[in-house]
Amino acid sequence: QDVVNKIAAGEIIVAPVHALKELIENAVDAGSTSLEILVKDGGLKLLQITDNGHGINRDDLPILCERFTTSKLKAFEDLTSIGTYGFRGEALASISHIAHLTVTTKTQDSSCAWKAHYAGSKLTPAKPGQSADPKPCAGRQGTQITVEDLFYNVPTRRRAFRSASEEYAKILDLVGRYAVHCSGVAFSCKKQGDSSSGLSVTSNASTIDRIRILHNSAVANELVEFTAANERWGFKSEGYISNANYSVKRTVLLLFINHRSVESSAIKKAVEHTYASFLPKGGHPFIYLSLEIDPARVDVNVHPTKREVNFLNEEEIIEVICEEIKASLAKIDT
Ligand code: ADP
Ligand code: MG
Repeated sequence: QDVVNKIAAGEIIVAPVHALKELIENAVDAGSTSLEILVKDGGLKLLQITDNGHGINRDDLPILCERFTTSKLKAFEDLTSIGTYGFRGEALASISHIAHLTVTTKTQDSSCAWKAHYAGSKLTPAKPGQSADPKPCAGRQGTQITVEDLFYNVPTRRRAFRSASEEYAKILDLVGRYAVHCSGVAFSCKKQGDSSSGLSVTSNASTIDRIRILHNSAVANELVEFTAANERWGFKSEGYISNANYSVKRTVLLLFINHRSVESSAIKKAVEHTYASFLPKGGHPFIYLSLEIDPARVDVNVHPTKREVNFLNEEEIIEVICEEIKASLAKIDT
């Protein structure tokens, strides 16, 4: 109960980018190979994500936004998995409390798509006086989630946003991270009515191509494949790291733990330290690192808006990774 009370909607979603992160993860979890994102006013006016995943059954729509409604855990008591994926069944519920939420979705088996509007966890009519029931409509397989007027009922939060372009930059950064990590998935992100403003990659782009397109075309030619694993500490990792002949102005660390974008200042610090002796002129590395750790070992108390994670045997795991980076840098050092 404590958890229920503590996690209020506005606490989970503090900025548009937090809502979008949840929506991207849902779309990827649904097996989508295409994610199209549309943004207006830094996400405060509109956040729309259209995927081609498995869709949502018509019968599940009435409870979709109830708190703790999830299709992803057999037993909700399976707390260990919660650690990996953040709080369960909370994202859509939270969004429905602080924004106008519309879901249009079609499964393969359904002959039509269904459209539903939500407010405060419940279905709500599109217009006053109409029925709140989901309406049949035309549409392709997949799900479109439309979030409008985020924080419309939380004026203090809404006033806290200074610039839409700052929020949009955060959104592009996040989408760029997932677009590198999710190979096989096409991504696009645009400002509404301004098709030149965003980013896009096709589903068949390689990881290197994705980095070239989304991040830095020069660094893409200077990357080496990276792997490290250790059974005792229960992890494996892979990715790409820049070599010792190349550096960027500020460390770029695209870090995923169990396929969720996270931050770890411990990993960042250790990696910077490892590179320091290989980059004497004070440059910094570019690193994309995907780490898979036994979910039972990842801190279950990590809050969705705090991307900073902790995990067991952090020091030991970081050491294995850094030793591997060192070996790899030494090999290609010229
Ligand atoms: P969680 O992802 O933790 O289960 P959410 O509130 O994010 O909780 O989503 C609730 C449920 O809604 C999911 O478990 C899933 O069944 C369904 N869902 C949400 N977004 C999508 C989507 N894009 N495609 C298919 N199903 C979705
Ligand atoms: Mg989710």
